[in-house]
Amino acid sequence: MTTKLKETDVVIVGLGAAGGVAALPLAQAGIEVVGLEAGTWLTRRDFAPDELRNNYRGWPQGIQKANQEIPTSRANAASATAPRGAIHPMQNAVGGTTLHYWAQSWRLNPWDFKVVSETKRRYGASRLPPGSTVEDWPFGLDELEPYYDKVEYEVGVSGQAGNVNGKIDPRGNPFEGARTRAYPMPPLRSTDFLDKMTAAARSLGWNPFPGPAAVNSRAYQNRSACMYHGFCNRGGCHVDAKNSTAVTTIPRAQATGRLKIVTRAHVTTIEVDGNGQVTGVNYLADGVEYFQPAKAVLLASYTYENVRMLLLSKSKVFAKGLANNRGQVGRHYFSHHMGAGVSALFPWNTNAWYGLPAQGVAVDNWADDNFDHGGLDFIGGGNLWVYSDRRPIGAAGMNTFGRAPNWGSAWKTFIKENADRSNSAYIQKSTLPYEDNYLDLDPQVKDPLGYAVCRVTAEYKENERKLSAFTQDKMEQWYRAAGAIAIQRAPLGGAMGVSTHAYGGTRMGDNPDTNVVNRWGFAHEAPNLGVLGASVMGTSGAHNPTLTVQALAWRTAEHLVKNWRNIGRT
Ligand SMILES: Cc1cc2nc3c(=O)[nH]c(=O)nc-3n(C[C@H](O)[C@H](O)[C@H](O)COP(=O)(O)OP(=O)(O)OC[C@H]3O[C@@H](n4cnc5c(N)ncnc54)[C@H](O)[C@@H]3O)c2cc1C
Ligand code: SF4
Repeated sequence: MTTKLKETDVVIVGLGAAGGVAALPLAQAGIEVVGLEAGTWLTRRDFAPDELRNNYRGWPQGIQKANQEIPTSRANAASATAPRGAIHPMQNAVGGTTLHYWAQSWRLNPWDFKVVSETKRRYGASRLPPGSTVEDWPFGLDELEPYYDKVEYEVGVSGQAGNVNGKIDPRGNPFEGARTRAYPMPPLRSTDFLDKMTAAARSLGWNPFPGPAAVNSRAYQNRSACMYHGFCNRGGCHVDAKNSTAVTTIPRAQATGRLKIVTRAHVTTIEVDGNGQVTGVNYLADGVEYFQPAKAVLLASYTYENVRMLLLSKSKVFAKGLANNRGQVGRHYFSHHMGAGVSALFPWNTNAWYGLPAQGVAVDNWADDNFDHGGLDFIGGGNLWVYSDRRPIGAAGMNTFGRAPNWGSAWKTFIKENADRSNSAYIQKSTLPYEDNYLDLDPQVKDPLGYAVCRVTAEYKENERKLSAFTQDKMEQWYRAAGAIAIQRAPLGGAMGVSTHAYGGTRMGDNPDTNVVNRWGFAHEAPNLGVLGASVMGTSGAHNPTLTVQALAWRTAEHLVKNWRNIGRT
């Protein structure tokens, strides 16, 4: 039997990067919030610099909800389903994946909001890739800038500004859109190797700069500065220098007395009334079923679960799933093209045994539309990212660049000599949505509660593969300029699979026929349902998503506060 609880103003489903931010402006405005979180609180005592545990045994997902509902995936509707992964990389805990993410904290560039109109203006409509469903965002970077600024200061981001109010600073990214002020903290420190890479980029006439990180470069908000000891790639920070929402916005929202957090609360479905307004959510905690009524619901459970939850929440008004009468839930899906990296071998040590993946040097000259595509046959580009992070097991798995076998004493000798002489760049590339890339419910595979898991049907198309080859050329040029003696390139990419940067599925836009949520993040078909996360984003740009996800979450929550009488169910 379901226990019906006392009604609250707002329920947030999931207290991760997005939900953990949205709670703060709501609670500060006097709105009563219940945060339902599938995981528990983790503290600095739960985090360990243990590569085996963090990176190979999938800590702590092995015992968690995410691992029991890993999406299935296939390249396209005609291809077979790929073997299912054993570990889901996303986190179930208060703070969500911000606990163990890399913490690169990027804004999008101005072009990312206007891919369609800018491509038509600069190169003509024929340059938009065939089959792409990309649309301009319903607003530009200027509208999101105040929210980027807000989150950078509330959460704490270290970085070097490149464009403050239109004034270009050559130490930062000259391609970034104008910002109103500098970052709250200076960038993380550099290393000899990063300095060499910076000098090499400058010798090519490029504009290298230190990347932004949600990690304290100095003490901030009474928490420690980073110690640069590493192991926070898929591990939490045991000195709270990584600015997860669990140590920033969530405790601040709790301090208002208006955020109640229920942990181990697994939300299964969202309920609606006969008018299509949401009335609350059903959840399970310790095997007991509850219904939490609310005047408004904010769904913030990461892209795959956001889409799955809507598709599973069927009713008389929404027979195909909540907010899906126009069949848009699950459409316009894509994941960042993060593969197709480049590895280099140097004749000297890089001393990368300490450091963290958010400590690095970036080049944006070949990102987005920062260069002329007139003579090229693709649109978009990639952010080149070289960072300082190396751990023992990962190092032993290094590329041998065709210079040694992959086993035996010759291999051991090669690894011993070269383990600190290689570097692998991470190239984050803009990726577009396409007609035949989508999410839906798997017809066969179910979670332990009997609910269908999400199914990914998606592959990288010609445009993304061409820009991957182009950015690999640029990365090779950069490594060679720094003295690399061998280069290895990863394959250009085929099936998308399950991703940590998953976009779309509940896209934001003014047109209800092609988008699930409106420009404020509320469902066109169910106006008191807000959706938070990269599932609302229609383009990815060439930079990691989380700061944008958090800026959008703040904006949606603020809109709810300002329009409470119109949006909240009476
Ligand atoms: C290893 C790794 C490194 C990354 N590095 C970066 C980086 O450097 N920069 C960057 O921008 N991004 C990075 N990302 C991506 C980043 O983590 C995501 O963009 C971000 O966390 C997404 O925010 P979210 O709130 O949508 O999801 P999450 O942060 O995952 O939060 C979702 C929350 O919802 C909860 N939840 C899920 N389902 C339910 C349910 N049914 N009921 C109740 N609660 C539920 C979960 O427990 C979780 O707490 C990384 C990801 C990984 C895995
Ligand atoms: S490297 Fe810095 S952010 Fe990472 S765990 Fe250590 S102190 Fe924390």
